Amino acid sequence: MRGRKRSFEKYPPCDRCKSSVHVVGYGKRSNKTSEKQTYYCKKCNHKFTPDDGFKGVRFPPEVILQAVSLSTEGFTLKQVVEEIGNHYDMRVGESTVHDWTKKYEHMLSKKELSR
Ligand SMILES: [Zn+2]
Repeated sequence: MRGRKRSFEKYPPCDRCKSSVHVVGYGKRSNKTSEKQTYYCKKCNHKFTPDDGFKGVRFPPEVILQAVSLSTEGFTLKQVVEEIGNHYDMRVGESTVHDWTKKYEHMLSKKELSR
């Protein structure tokens, strides 16, 4: 059969064992902000969603982009942390905001261009 191996390629690699061979689609998981395809790795019984740029981040993309936005507007890290705390009732570290700014600044400028 032609292309048998290729059928696996549409699935992202498992974020635990890094193999996509045992990965199957597991349906969609949605929250307030977005809908994400969830996958399941049969090898290590692990459910995961692929990396969309916000992997490993405990905060909603909306909060992150807001923080980055404030930061690029000239707010100090301390002020950004306070703003996020006030608006979203979330505690973020200053170093986290600093990392976010470095990491997601380009996403923000792209967003603003399309406005
Ligand atoms: Zn796995």
